[in-house]
Amino acid sequence: MARELTREEKRKIRALVVKWCANYNKEYGCLPLECECYMFGKCWTGAYCRYFREAVLPLDPALEAALLTEGPPPVFKPCPICGGAVPVDGRMAYCSEVCARIALRRQKREYMRKKRR
Ligand SMILES: [Zn+2]
Repeated sequence: MARELTREEKRKIRALVVKWCANYNKEYGCLPLECECYMFGKCWTGAYCRYFREAVLPLDPALEAALLTEGPPPVFKPCPICGGAVPVDGRMAYCSEVCARIALRRQKREYMRKKRR
């Protein structure tokens, strides 16, 4: 599954091409293709310029891992109870049913304590 490139990734791709791509020329763009670098117009992952993927991208291992890994990068927030991973895009506030129950119990206890005061 392809995903949209982040603005940061596009910026890094451009910087890598300008700095390292042997086929890139500031004045003419991509020399073999005689047009603007194909990688500059990319908005999605997948189908990279072959030269870029084999010779340029490995110079930035973090970017390489991000671009060649399928699907969106997993984004997690820590569970407030146990510190486990909770997907950010989901509706879950806790990593599991168990943690949700613990949290609820704590909230209730807090509530009772305040009420008694
Ligand atoms: Zn948890």
